[in-house]
Amino acid sequence: MTLMGNPLVAVVGSTNLDLVFVSPNLPRPGETVMGGSFNTHPGGKGANQAATIAKIGGNVSFIGCIGKDAYGASLRQSLESVGVQTQFLREDESLPSGTAAILVGEHGSNMIVVAAGSNKSVAADHVRSAIANARPEVVLAQLEIPVEAVMAASEAPFFVLNPAPACDLSDELLSKCNTITPNETETEFLTGVAPVDEDSCRTASCILLEKGIRNIVITLGERGSYWATPKTGKHFAPPSVKAVDTTGAGDAFSGALAWFLAEGREFGNAVPLANCVAALSTTKHGAQSSMPDLVSVKELAGSLY
Ligand code: ADP
Repeated sequence: MTLMGNPLVAVVGSTNLDLVFVSPNLPRPGETVMGGSFNTHPGGKGANQAATIAKIGGNVSFIGCIGKDAYGASLRQSLESVGVQTQFLREDESLPSGTAAILVGEHGSNMIVVAAGSNKSVAADHVRSAIANARPEVVLAQLEIPVEAVMAASEAPFFVLNPAPACDLSDELLSKCNTITPNETETEFLTGVAPVDEDSCRTASCILLEKGIRNIVITLGERGSYWATPKTGKHFAPPSVKAVDTTGAGDAFSGALAWFLAEGREFGNAVPLANCVAALSTTKHGAQSSMPDLVSVKELAGSLY
């Protein structure tokens, strides 16, 4: 295995501020509930994946859009504070920063409203010129920004798509993916096959391989992940950890996989390493705040690293 000198991943995606209210009771329509607590957390699949890469020591640039407001300034600051490069994080005058209002009730039940805001302003031209400038080894995108922006990202020579949240995708876009990383729900949405065991993982993967995608990496929650190419298929069990909160596990996985591939690692090494990063993220609460650092990844991965 030859690891590359100073590779770069460009993450093209969303950034949101999560406004989280925790209350014993969730309100019904028309009702006001007193007695809650409040906190804000940076979120958005794109920002979560970029933050993962920076926290495991990777070189990463985020391509996206914030509003010209206090939330936008705080989102930029939180990316920069973990070491994500933000020179291609554009400020949009016309829309507020993306936000999610999250109400958490007893036993973790929740109600969520997402206002995409400036994430809707991520434009194809901006993505193209940022990628031409940055010249990343790997480009990683998700589906919380306009499809035109994702199409522009897919023009990169090595494009990884995390197809989340699930939505219909054109054959043209799928054919440009080197790698796709659906979870169980997204796999069933895209292929009609629930990946419940190795046979069904292979069947689902074949449907996606027929679209021209080179590598299918299905994430299977506590069962780990499954990697398929036209020639092979292999299941990788994750390390056993004490999971307390799986929020952001998929983001940890996709971010880490993109970075390990940019470093020049083979899939047979990058996929189980991504399992380690994602497993560690489940041992802490939150999304970006739960992403592990390189020291803990090396410790858990041992000789894999
Ligand atoms: P998503 O968050 O998109 O639904 P998954 O639930 O498939 O994604 O989780 C992504 C990855 O996180 C898995 O492939 C696995 O590596 C890791 N993971 C998730 N849950 C656990 C767990 N309980 N124990 C160990 N690893 C886990």
